[in-house]
Amino acid sequence: MVTALYRRYRPESFAELIGQTHVTDPLRHALSADRVNHAYLFSGPRGCGKTTSARILARCLNCHEGPTDTPCGSCPSCLELSRDGGGSLDVVEIDAASHNGVDDARDLRERAVFAPARDRFKIFILDEAHMVTQQGFNALLKIVEEPPEHVKFIFATTEPDKVIGTIRSRTHHYPFRLVPPAELLRYIESVCESEGVTVEDGVLQLVVRAGGGSVRDTLSVLDQLIAGSTDTTVTYDHATGLLGYTHEELLVEVMTALASGVGSTTFQALHKVIHTGQDPRRFGEDLLEFVRDLIIVDQAGNEAAGLLPGASASTVEVMSRLAGELGTPRLSAMADVMAQSLAAMTGATSPTLHLELLMARLLVARGVTSATQTPATRHPASEATPKQAPEKEPAAPAPEPSAVATPTSAPANSSTTEAQVETEPLSFAGLSAAWPGILDAIGEKKRAVWTALAGSEVVALDEDIVTIGFPTLSSADVLKKPQGEGMPANAELVRQAILDVTGHRVRFKVQEIVVAEEPPAMSGEPSPGTPEPSESAEESASWPTVSPPRGDDEAEPEIPEEEEAAAPVGPVAGAQSQVGEAVIREVLGGELISETAVDEGHH
Ligand SMILES: [Zn+2]
Repeated sequence: MVTALYRRYRPESFAELIGQTHVTDPLRHALSADRVNHAYLFSGPRGCGKTTSARILARCLNCHEGPTDTPCGSCPSCLELSRDGGGSLDVVEIDAASHNGVDDARDLRERAVFAPARDRFKIFILDEAHMVTQQGFNALLKIVEEPPEHVKFIFATTEPDKVIGTIRSRTHHYPFRLVPPAELLRYIESVCESEGVTVEDGVLQLVVRAGGGSVRDTLSVLDQLIAGSTDTTVTYDHATGLLGYTHEELLVEVMTALASGVGSTTFQALHKVIHTGQDPRRFGEDLLEFVRDLIIVDQAGNEAAGLLPGASASTVEVMSRLAGELGTPRLSAMADVMAQSLAAMTGATSPTLHLELLMARLLVARGVTSATQTPATRHPASEATPKQAPEKEPAAPAPEPSAVATPTSAPANSSTTEAQVETEPLSFAGLSAAWPGILDAIGEKKRAVWTALAGSEVVALDEDIVTIGFPTLSSADVLKKPQGEGMPANAELVRQAILDVTGHRVRFKVQEIVVAEEPPAMSGEPSPGTPEPSESAEESASWPTVSPPRGDDEAEPEIPEEEEAAAPVGPVAGAQSQVGEAVIREVLGGELISETAVDEGHH
């Protein structure tokens, strides 16, 4: 029988321990300067070297040449405390998980009184120290506070907060950390080398990922892969299969399909994923991680290889191609959408369905940001006059080429939209130009909100506060309604759409568009047909987060009664609006909040 890798490679000195120099360096200094405390607390996540360090520390303390920072390795104590040694009488390891009571603590107290059998110190290592009960700690308190000269304590725990303060304050506390991927990768490369095992490209990255920063877990995963390989080579297929990660080719395939924006290719790629038996959630996570890597590649350019430890040159090449096609703004928007969907996928009855819907949303997000390429099919709402009721066909909103009919709208607007995505600060002009695209994005997600926003426009932009003008304020009410049970308000949808299209997270307030006879008295920003904002910024700051519809109705911004009445509410589009209402009620299950007033004067 072969012993486990992590036991065979357990470090015997601080120099061999990886990823914890912030702890081991000061410890070694203390040892070499002979400033040794009588009690230590080693805390940190599991499998990152706490217990191992406690044993090394014991070895350093009891070495015949010691106390030293580098145990000699040949004295009786060093031999007994080595990897293959049988343990020393003077080093007592106690698993506090099973010896946590007051009796165990008393027992320990009694043993501590006796002098060490042979070596310098009697050392007690309490593993899982957080499991010691309150009474157990109390029984230990006295001896930890004032131990005999020959006694040392080392507490190791994943939860230092559960070690009572009076004990903790008597110890020197050394927090251990998870080991960074790059360091782990180098380490397991060396392990593979000394084991005489070859691994295919990409395998070790998966192992490091599966290990989650814990050396022990990482080595266990590697151990399992080596054990399951038919010869001395661990293949990439074997690793993805066993660890359940998505094969990189599949990730590339799906992302390429998304980048090209061709729905059929995207779903073909997705079905391939599902048919390989991939767990949908795991695939979603892998894809999100891949998008993160693409962002890194896009940002780092030639230095990307250094930031993605272990990625092969060909992988980086494929990734830079994809990253170049998509660009950081779009990738970032995609990542947002994916993170949301993944959260919703937890416990979902049909994760596969969620995955397919996610792909649809990613295609939408892509389409919106790349409006330039397909001006004719995007912008259904770009000149949505308030008259325009939702069309009957749900999937293809307003396919009329009228989108291009208004020459100012499509080309000018899409070019500014692109510029918007690229450039830094959000400008009023940029936002106004992007507004139709934002409405499109909203329309693809929720028709009722899109309908309510018909005829709306950006009235003002003050820092990150956007004022949206509505023909009548009652149309804005729909924004306060929740998107569904227990979901955020529709307002969040609007904010998300603004973020997706412009890359800027904003707050917004609403206001009624008043067809003012006198020129608007606003200074600064050009705002066509603009009334003066009536709300204060403080009010608006809280606006998007407030969702209870009733309470807010009372807090409605001050609109003079006459203005409300003055807004022409009437039988506008006749039959067409009736159809629109029916669609909303029956097809979309929504409700019409109010008649949308038509106000053609403001344009
Ligand atoms: Zn020694």
